[in-house]
Amino acid sequence: MLQSGMDGEDAMAIGTVGVVGAGQMGNGIAHVMALAGYEVLLTDSNPEALAAASGTVARNLDRQLRKGAITDEAKAQALARIRTTPTLAELGPLDMVIEAATEREAVKAAIFEALVPHLAPHTILATNTSSISITRLASRTDRPEKFLGVHFMNPVPLMQLVELIRGIATDDETFEAAHAVVERLGKTAATAQDFPAFIVNRILMPMINEAVYALFEGVGTVESIDACMRLGANHPMGPLELADFIGLDTCLAIMNVLYDGFADTKYRPCPLLAKYVEAGWLGRKTRRGFYDYRGESPVPSR
Ligand code: NAD
Repeated sequence: MLQSGMDGEDAMAIGTVGVVGAGQMGNGIAHVMALAGYEVLLTDSNPEALAAASGTVARNLDRQLRKGAITDEAKAQALARIRTTPTLAELGPLDMVIEAATEREAVKAAIFEALVPHLAPHTILATNTSSISITRLASRTDRPEKFLGVHFMNPVPLMQLVELIRGIATDDETFEAAHAVVERLGKTAATAQDFPAFIVNRILMPMINEAVYALFEGVGTVESIDACMRLGANHPMGPLELADFIGLDTCLAIMNVLYDGFADTKYRPCPLLAKYVEAGWLGRKTRRGFYDYRGESPVPSR
């Protein structure tokens, strides 16, 4: 059983963190939290994802070790701070629970509804959603005032930003507690209001979607579109490469949230993006997306 970081004097101090979803984001969140000294309990409904999680975190910590970013001791301590469980209810007593499951509102709502009966009164709930209404997710819980969006960027260990999103009911104590966590991680928080896709994805996703339209309409090939934006706009990654990195299912889900949330056709998801998702070509995580990653080096798909 993880010890709560609560004490009488510092009621909102967070010591224990639960992470729901052990995919690329959940792994990364567990990794940075453990390195920063939090005790982490990670869960996933897919036993394979959960079984793979510790190995993924260990490999990523090794990479940081090789670069000299962390010490051997820090790596060992971080790994020792991460435990996994197949049982969501076990996260209930912790100081903060961060949901980082698949970007589908029904999935997230069901997780919060299942978690609520097991929560300690002080537990703060956070979602890593890229786009879904924080206020609406909070309304599925017993504590909208202790609920907020804590949106990490991918890859979590490398990216500096965390977007903090208040729902309509989020109280100041909760916001400050989450802000303190971001600071302890050595990251920078930016505050966004609770409108579809917040700030980063409100701006980034329509660009990626436009790149897929350019591909769909034959304006360019996968390689020429990515080269144009890398070399012409000085982006570190091309938009299609980046879409594969994020996950095409996540990109499509975010476009749908923008489209539905604003009822504006300028956010219409490109049918070609939907087609890749229908094929199960979700990008790097399935080794196939706008590029094929099954060989030695990525090969453009069209
Ligand atoms: P992913 O597909 O890599 O992982 C999602 C995980 O959630 C999977 O392991 C899946 O088994 C698990 N899951 C699904 N339903 C569950 C349930 N009911 N209970 C527990 N676990 C469940 O996706 P990801 O890229 O890690 O994205 C996770 C969240 O983070 C999404 O909300 C996404 O929008 C957000 N996000 C993603 C990125 C990115 O670049 N991929 C960046 C920031 C935020």
